[in-house]
Amino acid sequence: MTKHSLETLSFDNTYARLPESFYAKLSPTPFSEPPHLVSFNPSAAELIDLDPEQAKRPEFAGVFGGSMLVPGMEPLAMLYSGHQFGVYVPQLGDGRAILLGEARNERGERWDLQLKGAGLTPFSRDGDGRAVLRSTIREYLCSEAMHGLGIPTTRALCIVGSEHKVFREQVETGAIVLRMAPSHVRFGSFEILYYRKQYEQLKVLADYVIAHHYPHLVETADKYARFFHEVVERTAKLISQWQAVGWAHGVMNTDNMSILGITLDYGPFGFIDDYDPGFICNHSDHNGRYAFNQQPYIGLWNLSCLAQALLPLAQKEELKAALDRYTPLCEGRYMELMRAKFGLIETKEEDASLIQDLLALMHLHHVDYTNFFRTLGLFQAGPESQNEPLRDFFLDRGAFDQWARRYKDRLHEEGSRDEDRMVHMNRVNPKYVLRNYLAQTAIEKAQKKDFSEIDRLLILLQNPYSDQPGMDAYASPPPNWGKHLAVSCSS
Ligand code: AMP
Ligand code: MG
Repeated sequence: MTKHSLETLSFDNTYARLPESFYAKLSPTPFSEPPHLVSFNPSAAELIDLDPEQAKRPEFAGVFGGSMLVPGMEPLAMLYSGHQFGVYVPQLGDGRAILLGEARNERGERWDLQLKGAGLTPFSRDGDGRAVLRSTIREYLCSEAMHGLGIPTTRALCIVGSEHKVFREQVETGAIVLRMAPSHVRFGSFEILYYRKQYEQLKVLADYVIAHHYPHLVETADKYARFFHEVVERTAKLISQWQAVGWAHGVMNTDNMSILGITLDYGPFGFIDDYDPGFICNHSDHNGRYAFNQQPYIGLWNLSCLAQALLPLAQKEELKAALDRYTPLCEGRYMELMRAKFGLIETKEEDASLIQDLLALMHLHHVDYTNFFRTLGLFQAGPESQNEPLRDFFLDRGAFDQWARRYKDRLHEEGSRDEDRMVHMNRVNPKYVLRNYLAQTAIEKAQKKDFSEIDRLLILLQNPYSDQPGMDAYASPPPNWGKHLAVSCSS
């Protein structure tokens, strides 16, 4: 495989060829203080055939810290709008992100290289164009954790920090995360063209996205409707994965919804510790619009916004038909994922209640979501087995025993064998997730210039399904201080 240096990265900037009204071309603004590398992710470097040795060069922090460009980059900020907390905002756009270019790899894939936190753009509105070290660490670690879990997501190549001061509730330091995705086009990229009645341009954008990301649809007659069908499918699958793993996005505005159905824009996200379906991870979300159990509905709501924006291109009935498929798809996929989490292979009518009843019990008894499912892999279905480690999750052990009897029966019905089931379950029930307190520990160390915890978590979370020697503490539920950390959008 070719190993590129920074200077030999191969760019093909297709977005920069689109009409000029789709973006603003501009360079990143260097930090006021020198940039330094905080963390580097070799597995993302592989996606663009970048030699990992390059991270040792001082120029690396220069390029990905926004102070220099390499040949082939054509930096720009993308324009979009979107519905934020249910309200249409006519213009948003990359207010602090800058797309450097699309790097091509040997397999012919193109990866957007986007700096987040790279200074003011024409779309910064009241913001300062910056991101703080804290938020870049969260985005960097969580996007790689999601990838490790098998959930479609943007990726992250590195974090570059600086002593550059950034003013939030407190004075913090600025940092940049280099985000990668096949595309950063969002639902909001379509909405802005629709609401501005730029229907020709809307078609240009749709044709572009289809040509590059849904190429099998290019020749089809009703391609815009088919395209929407596929976005619906991908979004439904994505959100069912979030639900199954117990993850909340926190800011599911339409400008944060990827047209590729990948997880996009990590802010006040959270993995559930004690199971609570009404979990709200975003401190600023007072009404719980983006609560954990609302995510499937919000997915539909957001897709309806996209459908509206596609009205000039496709038949209303077709778009409606696609929307009608969303809920069954989302629920069906969720049930498949949950069956796998319970180690069930066959599909039975009573599974929904078996699963729901356990979840209700977990809620009532404040049971740790990730650890319970990981431990459920140890379940013994023999007539005498008590399953003590599982009972211990519940205050009312009798209530668990009652449920466990039903589970045993269900396992017997399909002739499930304990050892086989455990192997399958350990492949879908992670041992390690990025709990807020783990991220917080890495952040606090990094703020004191010790970046080692970031790298440790990165490696751990890239392999969340395997037991890693000496790392059991990282699977622990949060200590008291880490239980209800307030995380908001101001990052
Ligand atoms: P988010 O909620 O992070 O998806 O951001 C919503 C919008 O606000 C996007 O257009 C962002 O680019 C913009 N934005 C967020 N933070 C900043 C900031 N510090 N400076 C400029 N724009 C920002
Ligand atoms: Mg956003």
